[in-house]
Order: sequence, then structure tokens, then C-alpha cells
Amino acid sequence: MTEENRTPSSQNDPSRREFLFTGLQVAASLPVAFSRPASAGRSPRGQVPFFTTRGVVVTTPDLMTLDWPQRAARAGLTTIGTHVTPSEVSEFIQTERGREFVARCKECGIAVEHELHAMSDLLPRALFEKDPSMYRVNEQGQRSPDFNCCVHSSNAIEVVCENVVKYAEILRPTTGRYFYWIDDGRPMCQCSRCRLYSDSEQSLILENEMLRALRRVDARATLAHLAYARTMEPPVQVKPASGIFLEFAPIGRTWSEPISRREAKEGQHGRYLDWLDSNLAVFGKDDAQVLEYWLDVSLFSSWKRDAKKRLPWKRDVFLEDIAAYADRGIRHVTSFAAYMDADYVKQYGEPPLDEYGEGLRRLG
Ligand SMILES: [Zn+2]
Repeated sequence: MTEENRTPSSQNDPSRREFLFTGLQVAASLPVAFSRPASAGRSPRGQVPFFTTRGVVVTTPDLMTLDWPQRAARAGLTTIGTHVTPSEVSEFIQTERGREFVARCKECGIAVEHELHAMSDLLPRALFEKDPSMYRVNEQGQRSPDFNCCVHSSNAIEVVCENVVKYAEILRPTTGRYFYWIDDGRPMCQCSRCRLYSDSEQSLILENEMLRALRRVDARATLAHLAYARTMEPPVQVKPASGIFLEFAPIGRTWSEPISRREAKEGQHGRYLDWLDSNLAVFGKDDAQVLEYWLDVSLFSSWKRDAKKRLPWKRDVFLEDIAAYADRGIRHVTSFAAYMDADYVKQYGEPPLDEYGEGLRRLG
């Protein structure tokens, strides 16, 4: 999925340097320190930016080696999302380094969210022996603790909701926006009751229940429905509860061409746009979020942290992409920036965070 995306970097492109310089000039001309979000949050023309969430999603090792809150603020971003699983992030956030990260975000005016592949933590695999009926029926017709759960098991829902609340106490997003996803790209249940529903619908059944549980501890909680991999088809038989918002993550696209080029990647971009539009028709556009991969070193390195590739950053593609998302009324945009850590900066120099932030702010 990532092979053809490895294109030469634009780091040495003179237009990039010029652009970056202009961005820094804008920042430097502001009356207060440009790491303050009140100033960095303005578009270059002084308007309030169209995109209200301008984020990055990074992993805990990235947070441990770079001052992400300061970098995000300097780039005019609003939000840092942590990743990958609830157990891992909750462990980090309770360390001294984790508490420091939260405090730095507050200082820099950066919102904190947690974007998590969650189901194996929310329904611990060790409970399989006690009650196999909570787990999914696999493609061979067997109950299996491999991934996800059976969404028609009331015991499973109960355990999942208890754990969602437990994690929410530790991982409280400053925005009220929660992200508890199913296991990464993994199939849902094939039991006689579940198989009448698509994977998107099974996810939504779970999300509606999780949101109800979250609201008991956080009255303003909203929860993402992730359209990604096996859940791109919009749900039909299950309706989102009020407070469920769409998160759209087109991982199978190419970043060599804009998402608006429908024929790109043998028509995959066209399919993504159709899925996006049909999902927006179900979930609404107001709180919808795009989760992109423009800055995702992990994807472009085939998820090998020890063999990091330079980001194939294409500013023009990025700008066309965000225009296509803005045309649809989407105001929340974030990108994975996983593996963007101290080692990456040492190997390849500064990543294009300022260009990313400036691009997101320029639409006013
Ligand atoms: Zn089932």
C-alpha cells in the first residue's frame, strides 16, 4: 500500500524554502511570542481559520523525544492526538514525562486528544476462557479472541463500556472528543446475529453504547466513528446517536496525487470521495474529521521505526486535498505524524510542520 508513495523529497525545492521563510516572517511579525496559539491560530490574512481542528497524531516515543507541544504551537496547530492503544497511552500519561506533556500542551494552548485502536484493551483477551460468547465468531465459524468482539453479547458491551469509562478517567481529552476505534483494520463478528450487519454497522452499534457510557462521566463527550479499511461503507441499518461524529481515514490512497483526482490509484480516489460523501450524508459534516497521512513517517516507512524514510511531502497535493475537504464543509483536519521523533529530525532535518500548519490556517 505504501510502495508507490515513496517519491523523492521536496526538502531541497527552493520554493519550499521560500514558503517556509514567508511563514516564519508572518509568525515573527506578530506582537506576542509566536508560540502562543492566540496569535498562531490566525490565518495569514488575520482571519479566523476555516479549519477549527488543525492537528497531528503521534505515538508516545515521538512525544518522549521531541517537544511536540511547542512545535505544534509554533506551526499554528490546535491539537495533538496520542496513539496507539489505551493501555500504552494511559501508562505513558501517568509517567512524569506524560504529565509534563499534558502540562506543556496546556502552557502552549494545545488541545490533547487520544486516537486509539482500542478494542483489545476494552475487552481484554484474557477473559476468553471465562466467557467465549463475548468474542467474535471468525470466518471459520469459531469463537475467537483474536480481534474485536461480538457486538450482540450484552456481557461484551458491559465490559467494553466499563473499560471505556476506566480509560476515560485517565485519558480525558481536553476537547470532549473521544476516539476508541476497533482493532486496526480487523474484521468484526460473523455470528448469526452480527453477520446481518456490516463491519461499519457493528462498529456503530458499539460506538453508540460507548458514547452512552462516556456521557455518564463526561457530559460533553462525543465519539468518533472511524471510516477506514473495512469500515468505509456507511452504516445503513444502524443510526448514529447524537454525539457520534465521522472520522475519515483514506489509508489506501496515494499522496502523489490529490484526493480530488478521482481516477488516481486505479479509481481508488473516486471510491474514497464517494464513501466520504455517503458517510457525511449519514453523520453530518459539522463535527466530521479527516485523519490523513501527509506527515505519517510510519506509513511511508512501512511501520519500521528503525528504517525511517524521508517524508515525501508534496505541498501542492496537500493544499488541493484540504481544499477538497473544505469544499465538503469539513472543519476538523488532522494527520498522523507517527515516527516524527528526534531521530527523524537528526536524519532528515526539520519536517514540514510549519508548511502544514500554514496551509491549514490560510483558508479563512
Ligand atoms: Zn456476534
